Amino acid sequence: MKASLKKLFFLFRLGLVVLIGALTYWQIIVGPKVASKPENPRISAQEAKLIRGKILDRRGKVISSQEEGVRVYLGPAALAPLVGYTSGKRGRSGLEATFGHELLGQLPAQRLTNIKRRILGQEPQGSDVCLTIDLRLVEAAANALGGRRGAVVGVHVQTGEILVLATSPGFDPNRIGENWEKLAGDKASPLLNRPLQGLYPPGSTFKLLVALGVLHWNLVGADERFYCPGKIEIEGKSIECFHGKRHGWITLEEAMAVSCNVTFVRLAQRLGKARLYKLAQMLSLERRPLLGVPTSQTRLPAQAGRGSSTVPQLAIGQGSLLVTPVQMAMLTAAIANGGTVRSPYLLYQAKSGDVALLRGKSSWQQEMSSAAFAPLRKYLEAAVERGTGKAAKVAGLRVAGKTGTAENPHGRPHAWFVGFAPAARPVLALAVVVENAGEGGKWAAPVAGAVFKAAKESGYFSHAEY
Ligand SMILES: [Zn+2]
Repeated sequence: MKASLKKLFFLFRLGLVVLIGALTYWQIIVGPKVASKPENPRISAQEAKLIRGKILDRRGKVISSQEEGVRVYLGPAALAPLVGYTSGKRGRSGLEATFGHELLGQLPAQRLTNIKRRILGQEPQGSDVCLTIDLRLVEAAANALGGRRGAVVGVHVQTGEILVLATSPGFDPNRIGENWEKLAGDKASPLLNRPLQGLYPPGSTFKLLVALGVLHWNLVGADERFYCPGKIEIEGKSIECFHGKRHGWITLEEAMAVSCNVTFVRLAQRLGKARLYKLAQMLSLERRPLLGVPTSQTRLPAQAGRGSSTVPQLAIGQGSLLVTPVQMAMLTAAIANGGTVRSPYLLYQAKSGDVALLRGKSSWQQEMSSAAFAPLRKYLEAAVERGTGKAAKVAGLRVAGKTGTAENPHGRPHAWFVGFAPAARPVLALAVVVENAGEGGKWAAPVAGAVFKAAKESGYFSHAEY
């Protein structure tokens, strides 16, 4: 009898342990994850009892907030495809979904605060989410795009924070329910977050990689000159310099400044495909940044066989090569900082009032050590100072960069500019694409110039902010 009682007591205790374990698991470990899933119908009931947190820019400017139970978007249209919407009919998208956990007050410190608030008879609150983005720079980028289809994205050279992101056209998240059909059917794809999802041939901006390669493997002489007769015949096809211009005898620095196709085709042949691909790998060109929102993957064409591109095509960023603007910004940042590729990120901090509960950081980084970065930065400064990138110049600021004019099957070439500033001590690396606009130097470089100017005026280059 005593033995069976003992056994019963043991089973009872075992049951209790299992129950506590299960409750802990569901409430503390799984609960927050389930609660923050956008498709979870419990959200609306839970939110009705809670003040959902705000989404702010890095300086605390409100991008979206909760007003009388309704999500109100106050940010610019250019940021809407990233921040996303909250709609009864359409659910939730973008960062509104990604940061659901934080916005619903599910961070451990916020949960404790909310228990206290409930005891005191106050409404529980979500945490506010500050993005790494600076709205002043987003507005400068959107104004400079001026309604043309395109993308601007800029990362902090030393940290990987995304400081600026603008996509055009954007949309109004406050009217997503009524405008859905129109937006979804719009040929200009306003729901697409172009800086992260757009795939474009990089055109001459890819010459950065070729130049880096020949410098890294010492394939050019210090004062070597190349002869450009205006075009080069490769495998029965002719590749011309812009408007067939003869550049004559030029150095690598001059070839970069004038974006000489002939010289870069020759350099890429010297470099060879294997080394070019190796370099792309060393700089994580195909490593997709993890941002919690949809991103497209930059893909180099197959190295050989079907779907491959020839070295001359790759030298000028054509063939079947497609890149995302954010990946080009990451590459440019790595050139600017001397070889560290950092995964970009969007969460500056999650906070409750003025108390920081969580700070974002880069999730991975990869380093490439090379003596090639210093001369390359000098060439890129020359390209803006006296070459094709002149329109990116800003008074009182040294800007470095490279233009691109990328042919594509959808009409006029896409205009590109990638670059960084200040050239001597880089802070901001930018990638700009203006779709089917024409020359990079004419259409994309001025957009970059406008963003660099706004960054200068906002104090980013005074080195006081960091
Ligand atoms: Zn040339």
